[in-house]
Amino acid sequence: MTSERKVYNTQMRNLTKALFELYGGCQRCGNCCRPFSPTVFPNETIRVAKSLNLTREEFEKKYLKRVPIKETNVVQTIIVTPCPFFDGKKICSIYDVKPNCCTNFPFQWSYEFELIRMDGVLVCPVATIIAKEIKEWHNLYIAPKISERQKAIGESIQKKVDKIGEIMRDSRAEQNVTQTAKDEYLAMHPILFFEFFNYKAKKVNNVRN
Ligand code: SF4
Ligand code: SF4
Repeated sequence: MTSERKVYNTQMRNLTKALFELYGGCQRCGNCCRPFSPTVFPNETIRVAKSLNLTREEFEKKYLKRVPIKETNVVQTIIVTPCPFFDGKKICSIYDVKPNCCTNFPFQWSYEFELIRMDGVLVCPVATIIAKEIKEWHNLYIAPKISERQKAIGESIQKKVDKIGEIMRDSRAEQNVTQTAKDEYLAMHPILFFEFFNYKAKKVNNVRN
């Protein structure tokens, strides 16, 4: 991983985490562990396998599934559903070593496309509120200032993001993976996300003072 990408990932993690905390943080309801199948990358596989005293091969055989993504050459590695590390009492049994997508949930970001995506908008009670407020803020303060050209660019990006969402949903449905049946997501540029963070932080500070 290039150092630029590492810095980007750290910044996005801090920013998304800080916004989530402004809304009270994780409520530990466990909703995200029920319908989602976390994606696992090789370094995470090694980390989790080690914590369970398993070899990488043993761990992969017992807990992982490979899901080809329709219309692409990509094969995703996911934990089987329902997640075997969810104990049903809202506790993750591999909490300290869980995959990054679980740690970062409901946020994901792409270095290449410069996008922050919020997943599980209808699944996570905190994400539901954040997404609603982002949409209200956008309609009130951002949309009136957007030119026709910017609007067209935004719409074409949205179409691509929607298409990716559709492909993922279809692939997962084909593979009988539970995720995304009720899923809704929101995607935005990191700069816009940062502007919303500032707006929200000021609002919270004003209430506190
Ligand atoms: S690994 Fe842990 S946090 Fe991730 S889905 Fe499973 S139980 Fe939930
Ligand atoms: S759905 Fe949201 S609030 Fe509930 S455990 Fe997951 S991240 Fe936390």
